[in-house]
Amino acid sequence: MDNWRIEEVLFGNETILQRVKQLGEKISADYKGKELVVVGVLTGSVPFVSDLIRNIDIPMELDFVAVSSYGAATKSSGIVEIRKDLGHSVVNKHVLIIEDIIDTGLTLDYLHKSLKGRNPASVKTCVLLDKPSRREVNVTVDYSGFEIEDRFVVGYGLDYAGHYRNLPYIGVLSAPAD
Ligand code: 5GP
Repeated sequence: MDNWRIEEVLFGNETILQRVKQLGEKISADYKGKELVVVGVLTGSVPFVSDLIRNIDIPMELDFVAVSSYGAATKSSGIVEIRKDLGHSVVNKHVLIIEDIIDTGLTLDYLHKSLKGRNPASVKTCVLLDKPSRREVNVTVDYSGFEIEDRFVVGYGLDYAGHYRNLPYIGVLSAPAD
């Protein structure tokens, strides 16, 4: 782990927080008067969800789901399953799924369909990062922080082999030194 280094910082903490503030303001305006449930996808979305909800100034509930993820690899397995389900019912509520990054789209597509089947008033999606060139399924991203190229990024919740989630910025990993 020690021989991995950050090759390039893509988004510094201030840049991230400015964009998250804008997203929070937009979400607050769009969901005014509606019963909003923010659903964070564990574990990568935690810093994003934490900053985002503090920029949402309307009443809302917070819940989390966990799905199968990359594990220690940098390529998607294509298999998605819920490992931790919602704690509360979303019937007749407006669900906003919060993901750290959308890549192939398989995770969000699966979650969108799964939560849609529970009779909510609506289901929308919000991601901090979007890699559009990698998309394999057509899934609507309603709120997006930044579009990025096809590079493996870490930090601000995003991990490699469980590490780097605590970085306050988002960066690209360099190849390991020998
Ligand atoms: P998707 O299902 O859209 O292919 O992938 C979504 C998940 O893949 C994300 O929640 C994240 O866990 C992982 N992922 C995709 N791209 C990256 C990346 O560049 N860095 C990291 N750390 N995880 C990624």
